[in-house]
This record gives sequence, C-alpha cells and structure tokens, in this order.
Amino acid sequence: MIDLIISDHINEKCIEILKKKGINVHYLPEITQDELKKSIVDKHAIILRGRTKLNREILENAKHLRLIVRAGVGLDNIDLNFAKERGIEVRNTPAAPSKAVAELTIALIISLLRELYKAYDSMKKSKWLKKELIGSEISSKTIGIFGFGRIGYEVAKRLKNFGCRIIAYDIDPTRQTFANELRIEFTTNMDYVLKQSDIITIHIPLIESTKNLFSYETLIKMKRGSYIVNVSRGEVLDEGALLKLIKEGHIKGAALDVFSNEPPNSEIEKELLRDDRVIATPHIGAQTVETMEAEAIEAAEIVIRFFNL
Ligand code: NAD
Repeated sequence: MIDLIISDHINEKCIEILKKKGINVHYLPEITQDELKKSIVDKHAIILRGRTKLNREILENAKHLRLIVRAGVGLDNIDLNFAKERGIEVRNTPAAPSKAVAELTIALIISLLRELYKAYDSMKKSKWLKKELIGSEISSKTIGIFGFGRIGYEVAKRLKNFGCRIIAYDIDPTRQTFANELRIEFTTNMDYVLKQSDIITIHIPLIESTKNLFSYETLIKMKRGSYIVNVSRGEVLDEGALLKLIKEGHIKGAALDVFSNEPPNSEIEKELLRDDRVIATPHIGAQTVETMEAEAIEAAEIVIRFFNL
C-alpha cells in the first residue's frame, strides 16, 4: 500500500484519482512544518504546492519517501540537492499555470497604466476622480519580458493583440525560435531591454544566480518613469531597491504578486504596500479553478505513473 501525504490545499480531483487507485491518501492541507516532520517518516510520496517547505530537516526524516510532486511550477521550496542525494524523485506540473499567470500579468499591466486600483477605491469612497485619472495605453508602450519560457511566451502572445512593441529577453538563445514564431524582438542582452522598455515584466525562476538579480544597479538602468511587474518570485527583485527607486521617482509604479516573505512582513515590504504607486496581489498567479484542477489531475497522474498503478 502506498502512503501519500498531501500537505497543501489541492483540488479534490487529485484525491479522488489517487484513492481510486488504492493509494492511502493523508490530506493534511494545513499541516505545520513540525507536524510534517513527524508525519513524513512513513510516507512514500508527497504532493505539495508552494506553502510547504521541504527543507533538509524534514527530508532527513523522510525515511521511505520516493517521490515529491509539486503541483505547480516553482521548486524553490524544496531542497533539491538533498532530495537528489537521497534518491528521491522530484516532479512538478510546469505547463498547468502558464495561461493563468499570463492573464494576471496583463491585468496588472492594465491596472498600472489606467490606475484601476485608484479608480476602484475612489468609487467605493464615493469620490469621482475622472479628471485625475488619465492613464496611458499599452499600444504606445515597449514591454520587456524577462524570462521567455512558458509564461513569458503566453504573456507575449496576449500582448501581441495590443499592438505594442515587445522585447523578449532570455539567457537561453534557443528561445529565439519562439520569438520568431510570434514575430517579436528577442535578445540575450539584459541592459538593452532595461533601457528600451516602458514596462518590464519578470518571468524568470528563482535560482541561486537570479536572487536579487533586479538590484538597484540593474533597475536604475530602466527608463525614468517606467513600470515593473513581478509575478515570478519575490527574491529575484531587491524590494529595498525597488522602494528607493519608486521614492526617487525613477520607477513610476510596480505590480507585485510575489514577495520575499509571504505574507509580506518586513518593514520594506510593509512600506511598499502602503505606497499607492504599488499594486499588490497575494500570490494569485496560478489561483484559477482551471489551473488548480489541471495541476491536481496532473499531480495525481504523475504519482500513478511513477508507482506503475
Ligand atoms: P520556464 O522554465 O518555462 O521559463 C523560465 C525562463 O526563464 C526560461 O526560458 C529560462 O531560460 C529563463 N531564465 C532563467 N534564468 C534567467 C535569467 N537569469 N535571465 C533571463 N532568463 C532566465 O518557467 P515558467 O513556467 O515560465 O515560470 C517562470 C516562473 O514563474 C517560475 O519559475 C515561477 O517562479 C513563477 N511562477 C509564478 C506563479 C505565480 O503564482 N505568481 C505561478 C507559476 C509560476
């Protein structure tokens, strides 16, 4: 009998599929790290999303664990080196959230350019800010896409319809093929995109080399009055540098779906959230019914294939 723990909230289809195959499913979506440390001892597999941290301390206790499935994309909450050392297979469901994250990215870009958050908030407060709320249009902008992978591609595909100039940037030169397919510019020169763009949108993974990649020295290269959207991971962007550049008026506004601490709790993050040039959403990029169902089904199927059930 396979014992499997699901340590984060997941669509019920996942549980249904696994149970039908005779897997003993322990659904504990609110489990604490301490409880997980004890509970994981006799489990053969775990399905998690972004909340659970599978660090070395927990994995050291996972004596029988053979498979980790991340329902979603980012693997930065798992100690991959240690899992590898232990011979534990790690899998994710990378394709499922791309469209949802791309759609949120477009929504955030429009919210920044049209100050929708101010419009909404003022109406709720019975204020009529028609004269004050003069925005600008996507079609007149150059948008730099940092990280032209699955999500970056879906963002570009949607932006194409707005008629704006799009520059895709990736360290992997083979991604040029996908840019050619959409007939957009592609470059491996980061400075070029920073200098050309009115809006940059970040879609790179969090790995050692991308931590604080968007530092003060990097962001200052952006045009004065430009905008930033970050829906990748909080730690790729130096939040202190962003705050400073917003205060200096160099960056006009930012839309953040992700933070170094989630929920955000550092003084810098709190100050960013208080600033009305910053729009924030609570890491909802992949939070759509369609994505959550697709992730759940894919995660269950990975388990079934792995154990040949
Ligand atoms: P992907 O692997 O398909 O694409 C990432 C791209 O970034 C790759 O093409 C890679 O070559 C490129 N890249 C890596 N390092 C780079 C660097 N230093 N500079 C430029 N490009 C670099 O991943 P994806 O599916 O597009 O997802 C991207 C990221 O989005 C994920 O790693 C995850 O952190 C984040 N994400 C966020 C949410 C959310 O809810 N906000 C949901 C899903 C994914």
